[in-house]
Amino acid sequence: MRAAALGLSMLAAAAAGAAHASTCPSATSETLAVRGSTLCLSLDDSAAARRELVHAWVERSAGIVADYYGRFPAALVVIELRTIDGGGVGGGRTTNDAGLIIHVNVGRDATAAALADDWVLVHEMVHLALPEVGRRHNWLAEGLAVYVEGVARAQSGNRAIADVWAEDRHSMPMGLPRAGEGGMDQTPGWGRTYWGGALFCLQAEVAIRRQTANRVGLQTALRAILKETGGYAFDRDIEDVFRIGDAATGTRVLQDLYAGAKNTAQIPDLDALFSELGVPKDPKTEAFDDRAPLAAIRIAITAAVDPAAAAELPDFDYPYPVKRFEFRSQRQALHMAYMDVAPKQEGGRTAVLLHGKNFCAATWLSTIDALTAAGYRVVAPDQIGFCKSTKPEHYQYSFQELARNTHALLSSLGLGRVTLIGHSTGGMLAVRYALMYPAQIERLVLVDPLGLEDWKAKGVPSISLDDWYARELQTSAQSIRDYERATYYAGHWSEDYEPWVQMLAQLNSGPGKELVAWNSAAIYDMIYTQPIVYELGNLSVPTVLMIGDKDTTAIGKDFSPPAVRALLGHYPELGKSAARRIPHARLIEFPDFGHAPQIQDPVAFHKALLQALKGIAH
Ligand SMILES: [Zn+2]
Repeated sequence: MRAAALGLSMLAAAAAGAAHASTCPSATSETLAVRGSTLCLSLDDSAAARRELVHAWVERSAGIVADYYGRFPAALVVIELRTIDGGGVGGGRTTNDAGLIIHVNVGRDATAAALADDWVLVHEMVHLALPEVGRRHNWLAEGLAVYVEGVARAQSGNRAIADVWAEDRHSMPMGLPRAGEGGMDQTPGWGRTYWGGALFCLQAEVAIRRQTANRVGLQTALRAILKETGGYAFDRDIEDVFRIGDAATGTRVLQDLYAGAKNTAQIPDLDALFSELGVPKDPKTEAFDDRAPLAAIRIAITAAVDPAAAAELPDFDYPYPVKRFEFRSQRQALHMAYMDVAPKQEGGRTAVLLHGKNFCAATWLSTIDALTAAGYRVVAPDQIGFCKSTKPEHYQYSFQELARNTHALLSSLGLGRVTLIGHSTGGMLAVRYALMYPAQIERLVLVDPLGLEDWKAKGVPSISLDDWYARELQTSAQSIRDYERATYYAGHWSEDYEPWVQMLAQLNSGPGKELVAWNSAAIYDMIYTQPIVYELGNLSVPTVLMIGDKDTTAIGKDFSPPAVRALLGHYPELGKSAARRIPHARLIEFPDFGHAPQIQDPVAFHKALLQALKGIAH
C-alpha cells in the first residue's frame, strides 16, 4: 500500500532529483547499490545470516522492478524492515512524507525460498514509480502495484506466467463495481482500489497493444511517466500523468479510459476479455488458447525480457536521432547504431568519431556540437559489441574487422574523405582504419589513444576470456564511478560525468548483462593482443595527437605485478614517443587532463581541436 500525500514531498524531491543521491540517513544500517540507485536498509535484526538473506531478497526485488522500468524508480529509498513472528513477509507500506521509505514486516523464520517468492517488496517498489497523484486516485497507485508486480515478476522469470494470469482471472471480478457504486474516483473500497485499479491497468494494456499492433504496451507508458515525473517523490496531476503515458505510446488510451471510468461505474465483460486473450478459467490446470484472437497480446505482456535487446542500451537516450546500419559479418546479421548529425553551417567536411572502450557514440556529445557548429557533418557510430549495437553471442573481434564494419557504414552513407577522430580504444581503431583505408582519411586525430605501448611485451600477464568475463560481471555503478574519477578526470568529479556512469551501469547490470560482459571480455582480449604501436611509422596521413598528461590508462595494470605496473601508462612519454614515430604528427598536450579531456574540459579541448584541424594542410 501507499500512504497518501501530506504535502511534504518536496523534501524528498530534493533527494531524488540528484542523479545518484547516495547518502543514507544515519539511522539506517547498510547501503546497497542497485543499478546506480541507493537502497538504505534499516534492519532490526543484524545477525549475519539474516543480513545475507535480506540482501538477496532486496536485490532480487529491486532488479525485477528496475528491469520493468528501465531503471530503479528512485535514486534513493530507505527500506525499513521490522522483524515479526512467523515465516513469511507481512504487510508493506510506502510513504513519501519524510523521504521515500518502504516499511515491510518480515517473519523471524522467513527462509530464502519464502523471500525468493515474495511479492510484497516488489509491490512496494513499484509504488516508487508513480508520482503522488492524491488520495482520491489511490486506485491508480494500488492498481499499478498489483498489476505490475505480476507482470514484472513473470517477465524476469520470478513468477510462473500461469500463476499471474490465474490470479488476474480469479481476482479481477472483485474490482467490478457493485450495485449503487460510482466511478473509480468515487469508490475507495478495497476491491475497487486494488483489483479495480489492476483491471484498469489490464484494460489499458490490451487497448494500447491493440492500437499499436502489439508493438508497445502499458510498460512503455509507465517508463515515460517515471522518466518525466521522477516518480513518487514528486506531485503530479493525474490528467498530466495519463497525458505523458499516452504521448509515449502514441495513443489516447489512458486519457479515454480514465474519462470513462472516473465518475461512472463501468462493468466490462471480464469473461469475454479473458477468453479473447486465451486465458482459461483456471490457468494452473488448463492450457492457454494460443489461437484466441488476442493470444499474441497475452503472450507479449508476460514474455521474458529478451537479453539481446536489453544489451543494446534501450533506456538511454542519445542526444541526436539514432540510426541503424544493418549488415552481415561472420555469418550473422548485425547492426551498428550511429548518429549522423548535419552541420549547423555549410563547411563541406565530415568528421567520423570513434568512441573508446567504456564510452559510446553519445559520449561525444560536446564534440559533435563543437564540430557541427564549425561546419562539419558528424557521423558517430557505436562499434559492434558496444552500446546500442549488436552484442553477438560469438564474434572474432579484431581491429581490422571493426574497421571493415565502419568502412561499410561510411560507404553506405556515400562519404568521401573524412576527418577521423578516435578516442582511447577508438584511437587504436582509428590507427588501424587509417592503415587500411589511407585514401579515405583527410586527417587523423587521436585523443588519449590506447595502444601506444604493447602491454604484453612489457609484462602484463595474459588472462583468459573466462577471467575477463568474470571480472566484467563484477562491474557496478560505484566501481565505474571510482575508476573514471581516478583515470579519466584526474581525480576530479562533476555531476556532468554521472550520465556516462549510468549509461555503462545500465549495460553492465541490466537483463542483458551476461551478453554485455562476454562481448566486453572479448574486446579487452582484442585490445591486449592486437597492438598498433609497431605500425605507427606506417601512417601516411596528417595526424594530431591530443594527450592528457594525467592519463594513466593501461590494460591489465591492476592485475600486473608492481614492477610491471610501474612501467605502464606514462602518457607524457607515450605521447612524445608516438609523435616521433608517426611521420606527419603534431602533439598537443594537456598537463592537467586525464583520459577523457573532451569530457573533462569541453571548452578548452574543442578550442584546441578546432585550431589543430585548421592548422593541418590537406
Ligand atoms: Zn500498495
